[in-house]
Amino acid sequence: DRADISYFGAGPALLPTDVLESAAQALLNYQSTGLGIAEHSHRSQYAADIINEAKADLATYLDIPDDYEILFMQGGGSGEFSATVYNLVGAWVTRKKAEILKQMGVQDEKEANQEELVSALKKAIDSELKLDYLVTGSWSLKAYQEAGRLIGPEYTNLATDARKANDGKFGKIPDESTWSLSKSPAMVYYCDNETVDGVEFPKFPAALGPNSEGERPIVVADMSSNILSRRIPVENFSAVFFGAQKNMGSTGITVVVIKKSLLPPACPQPSPALMRKLGLPVPPVIFSYETIAKNNSLYNTLSIFDVYIAGQVLKKMLNVFPENKVDGQEAVANQKAKIIYDALEAHPGVYRIVPDKSVRSRMNICFRVTIDGDTDGSEAKFLKGATARGLTGLKGHRSVGGIRASNYNTISVSSAEKLADFIKSFAQQ
Ligand code: PMP
Repeated sequence: DRADISYFGAGPALLPTDVLESAAQALLNYQSTGLGIAEHSHRSQYAADIINEAKADLATYLDIPDDYEILFMQGGGSGEFSATVYNLVGAWVTRKKAEILKQMGVQDEKEANQEELVSALKKAIDSELKLDYLVTGSWSLKAYQEAGRLIGPEYTNLATDARKANDGKFGKIPDESTWSLSKSPAMVYYCDNETVDGVEFPKFPAALGPNSEGERPIVVADMSSNILSRRIPVENFSAVFFGAQKNMGSTGITVVVIKKSLLPPACPQPSPALMRKLGLPVPPVIFSYETIAKNNSLYNTLSIFDVYIAGQVLKKMLNVFPENKVDGQEAVANQKAKIIYDALEAHPGVYRIVPDKSVRSRMNICFRVTIDGDTDGSEAKFLKGATARGLTGLKGHRSVGGIRASNYNTISVSSAEKLADFIKSFAQQ
């Protein structure tokens, strides 16, 4: 039975049982219409209401200011590795073009000498266009590689590679003073919580904050695995994205929170014709933030069922923490992580926590188990014993092995306590 299982899978993750129960009903017969929510048109008023309510509740829960737009997209976190590159490079070209037109003393692009404009832009691209990546784990590495694949590695800057400071393995975040950030990058990209490696930024990096003139770099963050679990200083970000399937709902939708100054009318994307002349990639329309924003996330058929689930999860969290909202959830997330890490630390002869203490993830707790010098056998025994107690989903990512307890928002304090009890009793045996 569901009630007997504590599921620590890394994503898809556990969903609240009452949300699933009402979703099951909504799949059969939504609001007594005789049709289910997965059958109603995405152009119906039902769909529009579900989208708008989920947006409003997300904004309330995270205190997202009015100068940000919320987009529901498809293609997962991996799709956003590509989308961020296309859209932020486009925004860079738009800004650069405005600068050049100003220098040329031209008001309207159409009045400019096109050859001159294109050649000035090409020159700027060659000398200035950079996408900065902080690579602190497997997912930011994938994003960095995708950027190189899409626009060419010469335009990417590996501002830090966390493996270099840690014997070739992820598990630390190099000190900010060692980062080599570009002067004015099209974006600085990082992953706030590395799901595979159990590394989480303890807080927003000071190096990415406003400079002495109050200007902020363009910062984009992947928060797929720690969204809704702590307060985000939203104003520090140009965009934040996350798949819904870990902390907010079911697989199938990806959320982008983006500053409106990166969207029209402030920042229209350059025309495909211009991008081709410049040798830069044109985004598939489905990955164009501008297109998705213009259509309130309904450019094409969106899975309204998945938005519905996310909306129900948000309503539940707002009900649990009506005053404190995300701060309330943050306190619980910290408490659960402490319960599990304390149990591991109590038996250092058996358990080795993988990441450095300073960057331990509250969401993905990664550790190794070794008894009598045998790691593989001990971990197999650990997993078997855990499963027998209804503690499941604990196997580490196939690329790194070990044990990983994913401590997402739906994990209850009592599930964290059950795992901690097992960690202790396994070591004592
Ligand atoms: N970023 C992070 C931090 C992730 O944990 C994941 C998936 N586990 C992804 C991106 C990729 O997401 P998706 O599978 O939705 O493409």
